[in-house]
Amino acid sequence: MIVSDVFAGKTYAVLGLARSGLATVETLLASGARVVAWDSQETAREAAIALGRSYRAKSRDDRAELGFSTSLETNGILEIGDPMEIDLTGFDGIVVSPGVPLNRHPITMRAKIAGVPIIGDIELFALARPTLPPHKVVGITGTNGKSTTTALIHHIIEQAGYPTTMGGNIGLPVLGQPPLEPNLQGVGVYVLELSSYQIDLTYSLDCDVAVLLNITPDHLDRYNGFEGYVASKLRLFDMMKPPHVGVLNWHTEFGQKLYHQLADQHDYQIWTNYSDDVDDPYELWGAFDENGQTTARDHLSTQKDWPALKGPHNAENAIASILACSALGIAEVDISEALKTYASLPHRMQAVATRNGVLYVNDSKATNAASTAPALAAWPAKDGKPRIHWILGGVAKSDNLDECAPHFGNVAHAYTIGEAGHMFADLLRGSMAVDDSEMLSAAVRRAARIAQPGDVVLLSPACASFDQFRDFEARGEAFAAAVAALD
Ligand code: ADP
Repeated sequence: MIVSDVFAGKTYAVLGLARSGLATVETLLASGARVVAWDSQETAREAAIALGRSYRAKSRDDRAELGFSTSLETNGILEIGDPMEIDLTGFDGIVVSPGVPLNRHPITMRAKIAGVPIIGDIELFALARPTLPPHKVVGITGTNGKSTTTALIHHIIEQAGYPTTMGGNIGLPVLGQPPLEPNLQGVGVYVLELSSYQIDLTYSLDCDVAVLLNITPDHLDRYNGFEGYVASKLRLFDMMKPPHVGVLNWHTEFGQKLYHQLADQHDYQIWTNYSDDVDDPYELWGAFDENGQTTARDHLSTQKDWPALKGPHNAENAIASILACSALGIAEVDISEALKTYASLPHRMQAVATRNGVLYVNDSKATNAASTAPALAAWPAKDGKPRIHWILGGVAKSDNLDECAPHFGNVAHAYTIGEAGHMFADLLRGSMAVDDSEMLSAAVRRAARIAQPGDVVLLSPACASFDQFRDFEARGEAFAAAVAALD
């Protein structure tokens, strides 16, 4: 856990006591702050109370031993109280969970009236940084590919021998991670996945390397249109100061526009890849640093050696990771080797089995057509014969599959499931063979009967899961179980 003297004697309200909220309470208490915590769920409040009890039991000597202030009576004390009802005067901050919609929630106005900043756990981490052992931070944002890129950068740094840890949106609260100590190789690197909601709650995170993967319309209920969403993501770059490095994908006209916008506004370096053909976003491209040198073309020629990074979208994620790790000073040979040994995160283009020469791939995390499109592009037709047996359906985000259409030629057979199953079956008939399977296990069984050696059975649903499953993880696990149950 991260503990810092900067919070000693301060007072914070913490709103939202799920994983990152509890880690925040723990860090603040251990650092000697007074914390007023709240969650509308009683069980969450009880978890915080239990945490508070264990800290109250700690003696002042414990804190003295850690080198923290012991002078204030309020140190390390937890109270339960709803920040919508208590007097917030004199509070140093209201720490809210990224799930709280700031554009609609009344806490925004209350905090403004009381003159108290609304922040998140990433901002607390940023405030604690001067008191941590020397280290670096890589921040990764984008609409799609954040978790993959975060895990990949972390893997490369780890393989290169530096101390490193992941945190943020990837599901690991950064404040709960052990502080990194430098080793013989160099200083430790915190690799943070940052959603736009988290960036909205952060004001002073000066990343050593900030990565922007892509931006497509999403979460528009929380922003003032697409422009508001873009502006939120770009704040990660606004917080950064020279000599630090921005990494940006350049392969779309929009990416190029952002590049020029950032380059005009800031005087730090922006490393970007370069594509000759902006009309083909899936073309593999070379990458150039600011001296015009290629840093990634050689690596890209070996994408076939990266078993867990299939598809043009993963080439994009890999390029951004190569650039970020080069900016950290990691040797090309180390980067190249680590790309080969990266294991995919569960439910993202995850190879779960090969049976009778057929590869089964779980891409359950692809919950919209834009994230399924690159999965369909990953296995092009061979000798004019399409190879993908595509399982799709669930709760549709739109009534079309337009983003996927350019890759329909790679699909041998579609198997539709869930609420959107009939609609998608009607939509796809005419472009490919379709089986309206309704249930995932039936789809897997039928695909297994039809698929030939060399084919791929791909669960990439382009839909949310909650009509038939608890979440996308449960859907991916059900797929793996159905594959395991095949004769
Ligand atoms: P995030 O954390 O941003 O949701 P993930 O790495 O978990 O991203 O990937 C989510 C889904 O998005 C995957 O199933 C994959 O199909 C798709 N995806 C991954 N990287 C990209 C990318 N660079 N561009 C478009 N889609 C992507």
